[in-house]
Amino acid sequence: MENPEFSSRTRASDLQGLEKREFDVLVIGGGINGAGVANTLAQIGVKTLLVEANDFASGTSSASSKLIHGGLRYLQQGRIREVRNLIRERDYLRQNTSMVKDIEFHILITPDSWKKWEIRLGLMIYGILGGRMRFPKFHRNSGEYPSSVKGYFSYTDAITDDSRLVISNICSAHNHGAVCLNYVRFVALEKISSGFSAKVTDSLTGKGYTVHVRLIINCTGPWAAEAMRLMGAGNVPIIKLSRGIHIVLPSGIFNLKNAIAFRSQIDGRQLFILPRGEVVHIGTTDNFVRSPEERDVSTDEINYLLESTSAVFGRIDKASIITAFSGIRPLVSDSKDPGKATREFSILQEDGIIHVLGGKLTDYRIASRNVARLVTKHLGLSASIKGFPVIDYARENDVDKVQYDMDHECAITVEDIVRRREGSAIYSADAGTSMRMEAERHLMKRGVENQG
Ligand SMILES: Cc1cc2nc3c(=O)[nH]c(=O)nc-3n(C[C@H](O)[C@H](O)[C@H](O)COP(=O)(O)OP(=O)(O)OC[C@H]3O[C@@H](n4cnc5c(N)ncnc54)[C@H](O)[C@@H]3O)c2cc1C
Repeated sequence: MENPEFSSRTRASDLQGLEKREFDVLVIGGGINGAGVANTLAQIGVKTLLVEANDFASGTSSASSKLIHGGLRYLQQGRIREVRNLIRERDYLRQNTSMVKDIEFHILITPDSWKKWEIRLGLMIYGILGGRMRFPKFHRNSGEYPSSVKGYFSYTDAITDDSRLVISNICSAHNHGAVCLNYVRFVALEKISSGFSAKVTDSLTGKGYTVHVRLIINCTGPWAAEAMRLMGAGNVPIIKLSRGIHIVLPSGIFNLKNAIAFRSQIDGRQLFILPRGEVVHIGTTDNFVRSPEERDVSTDEINYLLESTSAVFGRIDKASIITAFSGIRPLVSDSKDPGKATREFSILQEDGIIHVLGGKLTDYRIASRNVARLVTKHLGLSASIKGFPVIDYARENDVDKVQYDMDHECAITVEDIVRRREGSAIYSADAGTSMRMEAERHLMKRGVENQG
């Protein structure tokens, strides 16, 4: 089935008619949480408007490790319920979503690693929580790893392309009638008798619009506290921000068939090496920052990842780094150690405004359903939300990808195409360059068409 148009043209006509239309709900933020919420609400017939200040998935949801996982390391902190919920979601997504794939991990045993019994115990509990009881087997290093590695334990989690997961939920919401607008920023809110009058601004033209809605859903991730202040929220909870970076290197340096989990000799933190086609992603770091805008990757963070990896795999030249990316975790916690802060989401409700705070990529469906439950109650609807959200969108085959991104996934800029629709800039250095040129050519042509 052909997907409907979702482009700069539909965006412009949606904006033109925005003030005349009636919406039940305004979702603010087009990361995984906003996309999942909008998709769920659209599927149960709620009139939904979503605004995203930049491009969809331009925040944390394109800068994660891209794992759909139960969080094995959280077991060390006794976070059993959290791990069980994440495993359930992982298993749903791996069975029902073609863009979520299994990936085998090797946990390396090195002089700095966890003890064998610790890993064995952790993997046994992880297996039981996932409904699979097995005694984890230790594999001796028979030459596949450097001699500092004594051996490894293996287990399976899942991996995805985070920004495509977001875009697919957005396109699915669009298919079900939600109006989803990228490059539109929420700027102010006023309470009125029927609900709210919200002001939004088109970031591309600077033009402002006022929309009337019955409910507001704040899904602004690391910007949540800032958005709460704009809304005049009475109680802004403690939301700490932690930056995590990944470095991207050619896969030839490691020649891995599977992902690696190992422990940094510097501070004992767990790190991953994740094979992504022609490249590997190595991450991540976990350092408090003060603002969601502090996304610049620092030399210290790069050195930390390089030194930790070099201690296991031998010296890795800094010049081999193709690129790096960083994201900010919103943590609803007052823990002094970002690594120990819970990754669970919280949902707050205050005077018709619902705030989704924290959370992971993996559990976005649970957060979305919890929000939908509150929305249906508020609107007096009797819709069942069991099993939602479903991703009711698939790209067509044999299409000009860049043109498709522009016509059916509302890509507006080169970065929207290269970084968030095609993922090429972080999955392959060469493809990134050719895709960029292709995107520039198409966008220039569209610009000429629009002027003509
Ligand atoms: C380094 C790192 C690794 C991670 N790895 C994993 C992992 O492997 N697996 C996993 O499950 N989770 C992982 N996570 C966590 C996960 O990525 C995040 O929890 C999730 O992406 C947060 O999504 P979100 O929608 O809440 O926020 P975001 O994706 O940040 O979306 C919020 C959006 O709101 C928009 N916005 C802000 N203010 C406004 C406004 N005024 N008007 C309109 N829009 C606005 C922003 O532009 C942004 O796009 C990781 C996080 C990090 C940082």
